[in-house]
Amino acid sequence: MNVITPINLVGLNRQAIEAWFLQHQHKAFHGRNVMKWLHKHGVLDWQLMTDIGKRLRTELATNAIAKIPKIALEQTAQDGTRKWLLELGDGNCIEAVYIPDDNRSTLCISSQVGCALNCQFCSTARQGFVRNLNVAEIVGQVWVAARKLGAQRFTNQLTNVVLMGMGEPLANFNNVVQAMDLLQDDLAYGLSKYRITLSTAGIVPALRRLRTVSDVNLAVSLHAPNDELRNQLVPINRKYPIAELLAACKEFIADDKRRKITFEYVMLDGINDQDIHLSQLVRLMQSVPAKVNLIPLNPFPETIYRSSSETRIEEFRQRLLQGGIMSTTRKTRGGDIEAACGQLVGQVHKNIQRNLHLTLRRN
Ligand code: SAH
Repeated sequence: MNVITPINLVGLNRQAIEAWFLQHQHKAFHGRNVMKWLHKHGVLDWQLMTDIGKRLRTELATNAIAKIPKIALEQTAQDGTRKWLLELGDGNCIEAVYIPDDNRSTLCISSQVGCALNCQFCSTARQGFVRNLNVAEIVGQVWVAARKLGAQRFTNQLTNVVLMGMGEPLANFNNVVQAMDLLQDDLAYGLSKYRITLSTAGIVPALRRLRTVSDVNLAVSLHAPNDELRNQLVPINRKYPIAELLAACKEFIADDKRRKITFEYVMLDGINDQDIHLSQLVRLMQSVPAKVNLIPLNPFPETIYRSSSETRIEEFRQRLLQGGIMSTTRKTRGGDIEAACGQLVGQVHKNIQRNLHLTLRRN
């Protein structure tokens, strides 16, 4: 007997949900209607979708599911930063962080469980790569935030979504692109492309492909101004060195003269914050339409790195500004709840890691 696994309709963008309804001998507009119920109204129970005929509702209950990650833990920091640890149904967890600010409020979401890229200062890297998130799991993080922030006030309370949580979004290309479609769809979250930012460590072929299907904002994790150092800190650089990465960045925004790429630069004391790095960085950033976001390192227990001092970070910012490069320093937020990338899940995995370290040390 053929057992058909019910499809999770939360993970289908407009094109895919219309196709699914047509394939099941229903009109495409029913698909759009269901999409609105699921995302805009946050209703996951078919029986509560009151303007959908009873027969169709029964059919949905048989052939489809509407599933969102479950909140395993919720924390709110003194500065209003909120963090949700979400359980995916297979024991894996991811996290999403909400960062309210004066004139913008940002939700930072994950794209993978763990990460394969092994950036040296990142706590997600310690977990290694586990698996890609599916579309419903990516969008589900926004669904959860929308419900938690109060659906009505959602658009006031959440102005931006950034793919800067766990994982490398361009290594989960198709699912991330579909999820970004849903974020922009008026029947779902209705965010403008200017309010979505994808952050990548620089998988160049995927970046080139992204340009053909999406024009959201791009942030690039640079973190070092020369290949020798970047090879160590961001190992994917060995495959796609800085010159190639910057060429792809220029292409990405070539059609619009007003656009800039944000380059993230985590400030590591004594590692990438010396005078030589500063002059190399200024020169490099003058060669592309760039904004630089200087990030104080968010330390985590196993890291050997320390953040540069506030004074040093400010010196970097001033020199970049003098060089004509827009430059900001990221505020450290949610410090009391460990809201930095991968840190809460890091706690969950700590015991496993400790055992692993002990085993390795013993051998
Ligand atoms: N893989 C993607 C997105 C996830 S990381 C990328 O590399 O861009 C999101 C951002 O957080 C990146 O700029 C990353 O380098 C930075 N980051 C990682 N660990 C950090 C830490 N401990 N302190 C500060 N920033 C960190």
